Amino acid sequence: SVPLGYFGGIGVASKNGVLVKGGNYLDALNSIDVVIFDKTGTLTKGVFKVVNVDILIEMEREEFLRLVSHTEAYSNHPIAKSIIDSYGHKIDHAIIEEHNEIHGKGIKAKIEGKEILVGNEKLLESNNIAFEKNNEIGTVIYVAIDGKYCGSLIISDEIKEDSKTTIETLKKIGIKKTVMLTGDNENIAKKVASELEIDEVYFELLPDEKVERVKEIKDKFSNKVIFVGDGTNDAPVLALSDVGVAMGAFGSDAAIEAADVVLMTDEVSKLVEGINVAKRTRKIVI
Ligand code: ADP
Ligand code: MG
Repeated sequence: SVPLGYFGGIGVASKNGVLVKGGNYLDALNSIDVVIFDKTGTLTKGVFKVVNVDILIEMEREEFLRLVSHTEAYSNHPIAKSIIDSYGHKIDHAIIEEHNEIHGKGIKAKIEGKEILVGNEKLLESNNIAFEKNNEIGTVIYVAIDGKYCGSLIISDEIKEDSKTTIETLKKIGIKKTVMLTGDNENIAKKVASELEIDEVYFELLPDEKVERVKEIKDKFSNKVIFVGDGTNDAPVLALSDVGVAMGAFGSDAAIEAADVVLMTDEVSKLVEGINVAKRTRKIVI
């Protein structure tokens, strides 16, 4: 059972923007070995901007963006929002004949009779579409129309202001290892991890593979782990970790529901505040 003092700790945490769903989780924050972060929306802002469009067929940029935006119209992914923003016109829902979101890969849709794929390398590979890898730095989104590779978009995101100090502080307060998981590509994953001095990075992961990684890290040396994430896809990993932490402001409802701790603003540094409250509470309780 959890000592009563933890209720006071939960109150202090919530005044600081950290919602802890039970005294047991506040207690668990005292004995964490590894902190695992999702990249997009957690360490980075999750606010993407289209910075380049490479079209390989005879098609105007506006027409290309129109087809891609209609493919993305029903997706909640921040990538989808950035593409629709850069198109800048109204979506005509009448022309969207089919729409399928493939988690961790992208979208397959039927627009004006054309079958359109918009997503990462895995999406094109799993549909047996030959393409040339685009090595520009950023999140690369590939586009295929009626089975033919037609071009790509380069989308960039920014690291949050408090990510770097959060990683530094976690190391200072005794966290043994920091890890980043992402569905995004190798180039961007390694760039973010090295800028933030994160110890280990795993990229191009499907949602199931994120679960496998977290299991491995937990089993190795029976580590106690925190996972911090924001997306719908993150719900299974949040449930699996010793303490699942969700971003509250822009995080998905599924993530907030599956989490044990919610950071009410989207500042990742609130995690450190949560751990500090847990440490002070333990001192009072014991
Ligand atoms: P992350 O681990 O970065 O949060 P997700 O699991 O949400 O990433 O997505 C992984 C990858 O799948 C993205 O980097 C992108 O390449 C692709 N993807 C997911 N959703 C979409 C979408 N709506 N449109 C295009 N690509 C997408
Ligand atoms: Mg995500």
